[in-house]
Amino acid sequence: MSKEPKRYLVTAALPYANGPVHIGHLAGCYLPADIYVRYLKGQGKDVVFICGSDEHGVPITIKAKKEGITPQQVVDKYDGIMKNAFKDFGIDFSYYGRTSSKTHHETAQAFFKTLYDKSVFKEETTQQYYDDEAKQFLADRYITGTCPRCGNAGAYGDQCEKCGTSLNPTDLINPKSALSGAVPVLKATKNWFLPMGEIQQSEQFQNYIKRFDGWKSNIKGQCQSWLTEGLQSRAMTRDLNWGVPVPIEGAVGKVLYVWFDAPIGYISATKEYFNGSNEWQKYWQDDETALVHFIGKDNIVFHAIIFPMMLMTHGNYILPTNIPANEFLNLEGDKISTSRNWAVWLHEYLVDFPDRQDELRYVLTSIAPETKDSEFTWKDYQTRVNSELVSIFGNFVNRVMVLSDKYYQGVIPTVYQNTTDEKLIAARTLCFDGIAKSLYNMRENLDAVKLRDAQAEFINAARAGNKYLADTEPWKLVKTDEESVKAIMFDALQICAKLAIAAEPFLPHTSFTLKAMLNAPKLNWSSLFNENLLTSAHQLGKPEILYKQVEDEEIQIQLDRLQRIKTENENSQKQAALTSENSETKQLQPVKADIVYDDFDKIDLRVGKVLAAERVPKADKLLKLTVDLGFEQRTILSGIAEYYQPEELVGKLVTVVANLAPRKIRGIESQGMLLMAGNDFGKLYNVGPEKDIEPGSAVK
Ligand SMILES: [Zn+2]
Repeated sequence: MSKEPKRYLVTAALPYANGPVHIGHLAGCYLPADIYVRYLKGQGKDVVFICGSDEHGVPITIKAKKEGITPQQVVDKYDGIMKNAFKDFGIDFSYYGRTSSKTHHETAQAFFKTLYDKSVFKEETTQQYYDDEAKQFLADRYITGTCPRCGNAGAYGDQCEKCGTSLNPTDLINPKSALSGAVPVLKATKNWFLPMGEIQQSEQFQNYIKRFDGWKSNIKGQCQSWLTEGLQSRAMTRDLNWGVPVPIEGAVGKVLYVWFDAPIGYISATKEYFNGSNEWQKYWQDDETALVHFIGKDNIVFHAIIFPMMLMTHGNYILPTNIPANEFLNLEGDKISTSRNWAVWLHEYLVDFPDRQDELRYVLTSIAPETKDSEFTWKDYQTRVNSELVSIFGNFVNRVMVLSDKYYQGVIPTVYQNTTDEKLIAARTLCFDGIAKSLYNMRENLDAVKLRDAQAEFINAARAGNKYLADTEPWKLVKTDEESVKAIMFDALQICAKLAIAAEPFLPHTSFTLKAMLNAPKLNWSSLFNENLLTSAHQLGKPEILYKQVEDEEIQIQLDRLQRIKTENENSQKQAALTSENSETKQLQPVKADIVYDDFDKIDLRVGKVLAAERVPKADKLLKLTVDLGFEQRTILSGIAEYYQPEELVGKLVTVVANLAPRKIRGIESQGMLLMAGNDFGKLYNVGPEKDIEPGSAVK
C-alpha cells in the first residue's frame, strides 16, 4: 500500500485461554501492537485494535482433562485473568473478544459455509491417528512425536515449535498420544481440506506475496522457504467435540480446525465492537484499510499464508498489509515454558512491583526479539531501569520539576531577555538539535515498526535534556544570573512536555503522570515538534518521582524464586524417570504357559542377512525386506518402520522364523518373520546373532 491508508485494523494474536499471561507473551506481540496503536492514535489516525481469547485449541481440552473440569470452565477462568493482565499493563485494545461467543460461532460457520459453497474445499477420507484407549481421534496437539524436518522430539501434530514447520500428525516420526501416551492407530475419517498447493499457484496469491518484500526479513524468509517447498493441503475440520461445529450435513462430531476459526475471531470481535452495525465492514472489506497482524514467530504460517488464503477464496475481504512478527523471548538462559512454570507472570510481577508496569514495558521493549531471539534477565532489568529510566529520564524530569517549584513556586517563568553567554547558547543548541534529531528518528522507527530503536531514540531525547542541565548547572547559576536560569528552566519545561508526549506509546502510565505534573493533560502528538508547548505563567502541578530505584534485594527475591522452580523441575524430572522405569517393569507381559521341547523344535529359526529394505506405500509401520537365508532369498514384511530407517537395516544379520506359513499383507506375500525384542512402550529391536555368522545358520 503506497498511499497513506484511510484507517487501520490492528490485531494482536489471540492468546489460548489455558493459562495466565507471561513476559514472553507481552514482548512477543501485545506490547509491540500496543505501542504501534498508541502511536497511530496519537496522530489522530482511525485505528481499531482487536484481540481476544482463543478458546478452542486442543491445549484447552488437555488442560480441562488435567484439572478435572470442563473446557468451558477453563476458558471462563482464564479469559478474565488474561483480560485483566493486559489492562493492567496498559494494553489498550479497542475490543477484547472470545471465540466461544455466539457472534464468533455464527461468523466462523458462515465463513466456512461460503468457502464450502464455492467448492473451495476438497472433501477427503484419510487415515488419521486414533487413540484406541481414549477412543478419540488425535488431531493437532493431541499427538506428539519427532519433527521430520529438524529432529525435535517434542513436535506437535500441527506444528514443530522449534523450527516453525507446520505439520500433519502423520508427518511425525514415533507418534504418541498426548492423552494416554499410547502409540496411535490409523483410522479412516472424512474431512474438508484447503488445497493450499492449488491456491499457491493462483494469480491472486502470487500477487499477494509481492507484499512480503516490504516485510521484516525473518517472516519473509520463513514464508519464502515454505512456498519454495510447495504447500500441502490442510484439513480445516477436526474430529473433536470442543470447537465450532462444522455447519454442513454429514459432519456430526466434527468442528472447525482451531486455526480456521481463530483468525476469524478478529473479524467476529470487530463485529462485536461495532455492536451489530455494519461499520465493521469498512475495516475488513475496504481497500483503503491497512490490516496489520502482530504475532509471534510460531504463528507466521497461519497469518501470512493460511488466513490470507481463506480471505482471498472467500472474496469479500482485504489481505494483510503487514505482519511484524517477533521471535521468542527467553528467560535467564532457558526457554519460557508455562508447563515448567519457567516464566515471569504478569499478575505475579505486579504483586512484587506494584505500579511499576512501565518499567517492565520499558525493559521488554529495550530487548524486544524483533529480529532474533532475545533474553530477559533480572540483572539486566535492574540495570536498564536504574541507569536509563531512573538516572536519565526520571532524573531530568525530577530536577526540572523540583527547581521550578523551588524557584518559581511551580509557575513557568517569563523570559524577558535571552542569554548572550556563548557557553549557554552552545549548550542550548546542542540540546535542541539532539532532541529534534532523536524525536525525528523515533518517528521514523515507529513508522517502520522498529520499536526497540524507536524507544532508544526516546531515551536519547531525555539524555539530551539531562545533559543540558548538567552543562548549564542552573542550581549554581541561579546565584549569579537569574535571567539566564529562567530561560534554561523555560526550555527544560518545554522538553518535559515533549517527553510526556513522546513517552506515551512506550510508557503510557508515566506519560499520564507527567502530563498531570505539568498540568497539561491535553498535550498530544500534533504539537511534538512545536517549539513551545507550555506558555509562561502556566501553573504546573505537584512534582512526583517517576521511577524508583530497583534494589538488589528485590532482584534477589526473583532470582531465588526461579532457582526454586528450577530445583523443583529437576526433582520432578528425576521422579518421572524413576516412575517410568518402575511402570515399565510392572507392565511387562506375564510369562506364557509351559511348553515341551518338541513344541519348540517345530520352529525353524535361521540367521538371515538383509540385502534390501524399503517402505511399503500407504503402510506407515511396514518395511519390505529382502533377506538372504543362504539357501534362498525371501521377501519378508516387518512392522518395524517406526523403529528402523530402511537404510540402517541393510547388511544387518537377523533371526528369521523360516518355516512360518507365507501370508499376504497389503498385496505382498511375506515369506517368514523376523524376531524382535519389544515391549508396550514403543520399542522394537532386532534380535540377531551377536557375531558374524553365515546366513542360513540354524538358531537353536
Ligand atoms: Zn522441527
